[in-house]
Amino acid sequence: MKGLLPLLIFYLMAEAYCVKCKAKREMANAQQVEMQAKGGGTRPAMKGECPVCKTGMFRILPKPAKAV
Ligand SMILES: [Zn+2]
Repeated sequence: MKGLLPLLIFYLMAEAYCVKCKAKREMANAQQVEMQAKGGGTRPAMKGECPVCKTGMFRILPKPAKAV
């Protein structure tokens, strides 16, 4: 179970809303990226595409606790 937790978290983070399908979907080719934050610095985000219509999907992740 311990080894499954990161996978589960990744799966949950990879879920995003597709504006074209008007539905929540698990991003295909999801990858974690760094995006520029206001006021300098970066924050983590997930980038991928809708598995159904291939529309680009993007989701900003919560700030990691260590960055505070
Ligand atoms: Zn879609």
